[in-house]
Amino acid sequence: MTTHAPRAAQTVTLPVSLDEAVAALSAMPAAVPVAGGTDLMAAVNSGLLRPAALVGLGRISEIRGWQYLDGHALLGAGLTHARMGRPDFAALIPALAAAARAAGPPQIRNAGTLGGNIVTAAPTGDALPVLAALEATLIIAGPEGARREIPVSHLLAGIEMLRPGELVGFVRVPLLHAPQTFLKATGRTGPGRAIASVALVLDPARRGVRCAVGAVAPMPLRPLEAERWIAGLIDWDGDRSVAPEACTAFGEYVAAACIPDPAPAPGASGEGGEGAEPAAEPPALPPAALHLRRTVAALARRALGRALA
Ligand SMILES: Cc1cc2nc3c(=O)[nH]c(=O)nc-3n(C[C@H](O)[C@H](O)[C@H](O)COP(=O)(O)OP(=O)(O)OC[C@H]3O[C@@H](n4cnc5c(N)ncnc54)[C@H](O)[C@@H]3O)c2cc1C
Repeated sequence: MTTHAPRAAQTVTLPVSLDEAVAALSAMPAAVPVAGGTDLMAAVNSGLLRPAALVGLGRISEIRGWQYLDGHALLGAGLTHARMGRPDFAALIPALAAAARAAGPPQIRNAGTLGGNIVTAAPTGDALPVLAALEATLIIAGPEGARREIPVSHLLAGIEMLRPGELVGFVRVPLLHAPQTFLKATGRTGPGRAIASVALVLDPARRGVRCAVGAVAPMPLRPLEAERWIAGLIDWDGDRSVAPEACTAFGEYVAAACIPDPAPAPGASGEGGEGAEPAAEPPALPPAALHLRRTVAALARRALGRALA
């Protein structure tokens, strides 16, 4: 008879500093880091992962808080969603706090961490569109005290990966001192994974609007043209208001950029001169995609309206 009982890891190490954790990982190449365990243990329990050894990150106090550095906040990778959802953090980075408050039920928010959310890189990771809109970077700790910094988007796109023995130590986030929002649609009432989410931040110093759409693609999408268009309509020196029609058009612009119309079939351009076949109708967006596009449009419209209110 076979059972699906997961085999326990042979070794569990509990370092108290980032460099100790890196050293433990380097010494045991088969070891896997674990923070809150909400993603990792789900993979172990379902038999997808059988780590030979675990390096627990929960006792590393240096990555469980945040500090200020040159107009940025340096967030520890071990910050839990519950901690980021509290009012003092919300005053600092409101969109990330809103995403943290929406990240699953309370048990998950108490254990799940920012670093785990980033490294799992699930399309439905709620912190990810916020970090994309904020153009956050990761400070990665490597062997022998080495540190390197990469954009979060590079890790999510697979342009740069974590190397053996490396850990995400901190997330560097610019402090913009301006309204920002995160909105999420789920397929149910109560806590649930996003079917779509939108993070939107205002950057008055650069007169910019930055928006990222989550859950509709493997990584957050930035509708750059829509961002530039709406930023050009905002009266940055005045009350920063825009007409309601502009908010609606922005929502549709964002949604169409992230969920585009299907490409026309080859040879369906209708060109070809006299006697040629009339142009074929462009293929319609399937109903589920159309529904998702409307959802994204509504989220983006509301996110902009709230940020400018
Ligand atoms: C029931 C349920 C509901 C959920 N709902 C949501 C939701 O609504 N929204 C959402 O965004 N997520 C949700 N999640 C997913 C999960 O809670 C989050 O992704 C969480 O942030 C993961 O953090 P963790 O500390 O538990 O990661 P872990 O499970 O400990 O680790 C996840 C991965 O990251 C790696 N890792 C962790 N920390 C580091 C580090 N510092 N450096 C390098 N690698 C690291 C681990 O090796 C592992 O591969 C849900 C999960 C469950 C089980």
